[in-house]
Formats: sequence, C-alpha cells, structure tokens
Amino acid sequence: MALDTGAHGEATRGMDPVPVLTLDIGGTKIAGAIVTFGGNKPTISLASSTPTRADRGGAQVLATIVDFAGSLLHDAARAGVTPAGIGVSSAGVIRAEDGSIASATDTMPGWASQPLGEALRQASGLPVAVLNDVHGHALGEVSYGAATGASTALVFAVGTGMGGAAVINGTVHHGARGVSGHFGHLFHPLAAGLICSCGRESHIESVASGSGLARLWAKRAAALAPESASIGAPWRAATYTGALEPVSETFVYQSAGGAAAETLPTQVSGGGEVAQRAAAGSSFATAVIHDSGVALGEVVASLANCLDPDVVVLSGSVVGAGPAWRQGLEAGFAETAMTPIASTPLVEGSLGGNAPLIGAGVHLLHSLSTQGGADASAQGGTDACSEASLGQP
Ligand SMILES: [Zn+2]
Repeated sequence: MALDTGAHGEATRGMDPVPVLTLDIGGTKIAGAIVTFGGNKPTISLASSTPTRADRGGAQVLATIVDFAGSLLHDAARAGVTPAGIGVSSAGVIRAEDGSIASATDTMPGWASQPLGEALRQASGLPVAVLNDVHGHALGEVSYGAATGASTALVFAVGTGMGGAAVINGTVHHGARGVSGHFGHLFHPLAAGLICSCGRESHIESVASGSGLARLWAKRAAALAPESASIGAPWRAATYTGALEPVSETFVYQSAGGAAAETLPTQVSGGGEVAQRAAAGSSFATAVIHDSGVALGEVVASLANCLDPDVVVLSGSVVGAGPAWRQGLEAGFAETAMTPIASTPLVEGSLGGNAPLIGAGVHLLHSLSTQGGADASAQGGTDACSEASLGQP
C-alpha cells in the first residue's frame, strides 16, 4: 500500500478506501470499530465496546482485548471487510519498539509490562501499531478534527483524569522518554494540599479534572466546616474521585453576592454532581466550577506562551461542565496569555469518543507506510513513527 508519509491527515485523504480495525483501551471500557480511511473524513462502522474490568488484573484484561478484537474481526469478515491492520490507543505509557505497556497507573493494576502489540499480532496475523490513548486522541483531532491542518497544537483531555499532547510540525511530540503531554502535572496553587495521581502535590489535575472538581468542592467545604475535616479528609488522597456514599456532614455557604445561604454536603459524588448543582443554581457549585476553569485557563495559557500553538483543543467530560467553566477558562487564559498569544482559539474537540479510534487508525497507516506494509507485521507492530510515543493521562 503506497501512502503519502506527509502530514497525517493528508496521508490518508484521497486514497482507495482502507479499513483498519481500531481499539481504544481505557480503565473502564474497551471500545472498538472499523475505521475506513480514504475520503475527506474517515467512516466508522461495527462500533462496539466491552467493560475492561481492570480489577481482574493486566493478564485478564489482555485476554479480554484479544477476544474482543477477534470478535470484531469476525464481524468484519461477515461484513466483507478485510482490515489492513490493527491500530490501538491504550491507557499507559507505550514501549515504542513492540507496543507493550511500559508503565501504567493504579487504575489498571498489572497492566504495566503486558505485551499488548505482540498478543494482538499473534492472535490476528495482522500488523499492529499501538500508541498512548491521549496521543491517539490528539492525532485524531489534528488529522480530522478540531485541529485539522494545525502545525502546532495543544490538546487537553479533561475527563475523570487529565492528559494532553503537544502537536509540533503536525505530529504528536513524545519527548525523550515518551512521557510528553502530562499537562495534568503542571503546578497550580489552587491544588495546594491535594496529592496528585503521580504522588506529587499541587498539580492542576487535582482541581481541573472531573474528580478534581469533587476534590476542590471537598477542600473548600472543609475550610468552611473545619469540624468535618476531622473525619480524615479523604479528598486529599490521589485515589479520591468523590464520595462513594452520600455524606451526612453539611456546611452552610453564604456567597458574597448576597444570595440566600445554602446548606450543602461536605462531599459530592464527582464532577458531574458539581455541574448538576451549578446548573440548578448553587452559588457554591458555580464558584467551584468557575475557579477550576480559571486555574485550567492559566495553565493552558502558560503552555501556550511556551509553544505558540495555532489552536488549543479541549476535550473530555469537563468541557460540558457549563457556562461558568467556560467563562473561568477564558478569564484565566486572558489574564495569563502574553499579548500575541491571547487570540489563540480555544476550541472543543470535534471527534468526541471517536478521536482515539481515528488516531489509532492514522497511526497504523503511518506505520505501514514508513515500514513498507508487511514489514510492520513481521516486526510485531514496531513503529518508527514519532507518534508511537506515549504519555499517560
Ligand atoms: Zn501530578
């Protein structure tokens, strides 16, 4: 298959239709689809998903993935579709040489060291290319989504956790160790006292992610109701995503704006509840969301000052947190961005959950083009492409 090896989006436009089996492996679910390239936009078919059940351990998760891919290949064959290979976006830092998992967080115990690329290649006989899921997301958006055509872009994925990717010269930057893109681990004082998923303190993820909204809620509630802090302040821990059970402790919030006082729980179930309470008129919830947005805007602008992107793309559930979040984001960005940077567009990702699948397919096709097709299979998905890179949400 002769493919242009230029910018990724251009590489797949205008060629004969090429279907790719794509997978997106996360801590909660494994998604898959056939992504067919060749037109202006890739088309997606046979989309399905299955629970990851990460608690069963890495080896079981890998077996689930191989079974799931086999089932998708079976469906594709019945539909008369022959995929050119398997492109995978996966949680974890990916080892570029063989598509195995170099490291992973505690959300997927035992996932580190699993031979993901090799297992899929052996089971399917197809070429396989693996990249980190957030890098796959960014590659999708820069190839066919909100950052199409951008030479330099910053992509922020702000969901339960927070990840990102820097696109430089049209390709995802991976850094010396493949760890580039950990934008959730930028310092921000709003996160003081909160332990980050990386084990450090005061990182933006702890207040800007979906679980971060719940942590910021609890942190502020504890400041207003000091007696509730005596129950152990679970929200300081990196593993805290919100209260598992409704809490009985409450506090009273009186906004400076003179609105009626609110009696609120000291902990909420997650970022979704914060957004719901803000939408229902809670001044406290609105302030939490606004201030989280400001903090994120400040770190987005700080990075933009460094890299001067054509565009900043923001994706993930937090993007839907409501107008207070957007207003905060824009205010934080405006106050921190240097004058020439201030006009940088802040746009929402346009591919949604399909971004990592499309990015995985682009990555597979690029690896085939740079390795001469069948060689990619013989080398077990080894990938010379710069996007084999990594990063960890
Ligand atoms: Zn961190």
